[in-house]
Amino acid sequence: MNFSPIFPGGVDASGQPATLGVMGGGQLGRMFVHAAQRLGYFTAVLDPDADSPAGRVSHHHIQTGYSDAAGLAQLASICAAVTTEFENVPADALQALAAQRPVAPGAAAVAIAQNRIEEKAHFSASAGVAGVSCAPYAVITTAEQLRAVPTDLLPGILKTARMGYDGKGQVRIANMAELAVAWADLKGVPCVLEKLLPLKAECSVIVARGWGGEVVGFAPQYNVHVDGILAFTAAYASNMPPALAQRARAATESIANHIRYVGVLCVEFFVIDDGSADGALVVNEMAPRPHNSGHYTMDACDVSQFDLQVHAMAGLPLPVPRQHSPAIMLNLLGDVWLDAAGQARTPDWQTVLALPGTHLHLYGKLEARPGRKMGHLTITGADVASVQAVARQAAQVLGLPGLDALR
Ligand code: ATP
Ligand code: MG
Repeated sequence: MNFSPIFPGGVDASGQPATLGVMGGGQLGRMFVHAAQRLGYFTAVLDPDADSPAGRVSHHHIQTGYSDAAGLAQLASICAAVTTEFENVPADALQALAAQRPVAPGAAAVAIAQNRIEEKAHFSASAGVAGVSCAPYAVITTAEQLRAVPTDLLPGILKTARMGYDGKGQVRIANMAELAVAWADLKGVPCVLEKLLPLKAECSVIVARGWGGEVVGFAPQYNVHVDGILAFTAAYASNMPPALAQRARAATESIANHIRYVGVLCVEFFVIDDGSADGALVVNEMAPRPHNSGHYTMDACDVSQFDLQVHAMAGLPLPVPRQHSPAIMLNLLGDVWLDAAGQARTPDWQTVLALPGTHLHLYGKLEARPGRKMGHLTITGADVASVQAVARQAAQVLGLPGLDALR
């Protein structure tokens, strides 16, 4: 597609500075705003929350609901292009914006990512090219489909088709009776039942695709979840067998190309134990935006996932990112700000920041709650061993779980 680049720093015919917009004002929007502003763009954030992390640092904060016609009209009038920072932004809001301004990713791509049923159909049509399939699953939208679920999908995980994140909207199922109860508890909304797979590891791949179809991206990163939430990401070549890494990247590009995606896309994979030395890749889900597992790119690469988001939406050339340091990113959830009795405390930053190669990012959220993403700490260093050693020390000081899975 032909696209006239939106260059930073200038003003348009009516004297407006080049401004980029984002739907959603969370931490991903905030890091997008930082990247856009560094290039010289003005920014606009649409988010109903007066205290949103991105709204606080943006030139403009339009404080309306995501479907508010006046808010959307204002966003379109200020911005030369619009992106999104969360997948549950209403697809018709993106469509309304797209009638006036370039929107990347587009409503159709975001709609696929919003619905596990459509997402799996899309993966089957695109990732298969790279030899990667989804977990065996059944769609459950009716009582007949519920009764017809093949028992070889059990034990399994029942997942709502829509609005799941950080493990929410998921129930582990051992037998058909539990399945019926769980689906009823979920009020019979459309779901998928996925077979519970023997995971060896989880990883994700982040790519950016431009308006002209060019694709750049990062090597797969290794992710460890605790209680359904990302605990840490390790980004260095030894985290994954090279053949698997290559296949994950190829599958991700195919997933993006198949729908002529524009913007940053993250695809999550499982590595399952199939008896082979490497294990087999299974594609799990996609995020139509930068991803928590890509935050290390801000400190360990010469181009970050947020830089790529800015370049892609504005039609600038897409630089091939180069990772200059091995890295581990530790997620900082609200729990870090709470002691064992649930009382507020200040984490020991003095000790953590004295550790070599630590980069602290806090999102400006004033209230710490258990499980709430408050910030992250990236550790970079000259070699993998020293990065791992510092990550273990930092995790111990902060009381972070999961580091025993480091490799
Ligand atoms: P996210 O925050 O990544 O959007 P989510 O709520 O959308 O999470 P999933 O990514 O589908 O949920 O699942 C969350 C986690 O649950 C996975 O990272 C994985 O650890 C585990 N999991 C999900 N599906 C399966 C499966 N079929 N077999 C084994 N483990 C699974
Ligand atoms: Mg996930």
